Amino acid sequence: MPDKKMTVAFYGHTRQYHNIQSEIDAQIKGVLESGQYVLGPVLNRFEQEFAAFHGTKYAIGVGNGTDAIWLALEALGIGPGDEVITHTNTFFATAEAIWLRKATAVFVDSDPRTNCIDPTKIEAAITPRTKAIIPVHLYGQCADMKAIRKIADKHKLFVIEDNAQGIASRGDGFRVGELSDAATTSFIIQKNLGCFGDGGAIVTNNSEIDRIVRKLRNHGSEKRSCHSIGYNSRLDDLQAGVLSAKLKHIDEWSDQRRKWAARYSKGLAGAKNITLPYETPGYRHVYHLYVIETKNPAHRDGFLKFLTGEGIDAKCHYPIAIHQQEGYPWGHGARIAGPIPNSERNAACCISLPMFPELTAEEVDYVIANVLAWDGRTK
Ligand SMILES: *Cc1c(COP(=O)(O)O)cnc(C)c1O
Repeated sequence: MPDKKMTVAFYGHTRQYHNIQSEIDAQIKGVLESGQYVLGPVLNRFEQEFAAFHGTKYAIGVGNGTDAIWLALEALGIGPGDEVITHTNTFFATAEAIWLRKATAVFVDSDPRTNCIDPTKIEAAITPRTKAIIPVHLYGQCADMKAIRKIADKHKLFVIEDNAQGIASRGDGFRVGELSDAATTSFIIQKNLGCFGDGGAIVTNNSEIDRIVRKLRNHGSEKRSCHSIGYNSRLDDLQAGVLSAKLKHIDEWSDQRRKWAARYSKGLAGAKNITLPYETPGYRHVYHLYVIETKNPAHRDGFLKFLTGEGIDAKCHYPIAIHQQEGYPWGHGARIAGPIPNSERNAACCISLPMFPELTAEEVDYVIANVLAWDGRTK
């Protein structure tokens, strides 16, 4: 056990702000001075930068990452009576968005190593009502999009990537937004590219999705004063300005996350009671979260308590899977297709260690030393 006690935070929001304060402040001042705060030129510029970053034709800023998912579903015409396949060991919003469209969520198991959706479980869950698959790039690593695309093509299904956690991640020869109909993201501060409030976006190469989402997000209006029923779900220009400043740093921040992940994995390689995160060969995992698992589910809560007691703010993502949530409405025929032991194991055993670019080597080493100390006295 390290002799000196430290405090290690889970997030570094203010460290990041201070590191690039002049760039952020300049963006905010620019928007404030412009007098254009909603659907203004700064949003427009950020949307172009964000599309260019993904190599997609379009990017549309929306109110948050949850809206981004159901707006994409609505733009694809998915609603009541339609089934959407996803998995349960993800943030609640993935399934919430399906329910908000009054569509039917069908949950399949996750891959035991990556914790992303297991493509080999998808086909058995397809029915004549299936319309779409929503893979989540969980913890910052892309799902197996090549396999998912193949299944989608064979059965004529849409694919929406829930990329709230995977900005700047890449697969083996594919980018986010390339093998899907649309990829959605969230800009809430704890995500890898975070603004100072709520925000989200959709990237796509489909001009119809772009047109329909732009209309839906702004009260069903394409032409001034002409409306159909839509919503109010816009990314405002202040947030777009902040995101524009931060987008310039996202690759360097992602590399830094990967560096800390490599340091954790090297330092923890000898631990007997935990499993370390798996990197799919050839993929660029951007470690939104660095998630280890206790091999014994009975160890998890005690381990978390131990780390907290040593001043380390560790967390669980996500200790209660969607199918275990009392608040998930099993309306619209939502169901679990087949056994889902991997998603259940992930929920029971996961521990997220502190992970953000602005960590210090001293902090990472302190976490490693404490995990090893726990491991050494655990049977
Ligand atoms: C954060 C998150 C969302 C929702 O984003 P909000 O901006 O909070 O609405 C959706 N899916 C996943 C996987 C997320 O991590």
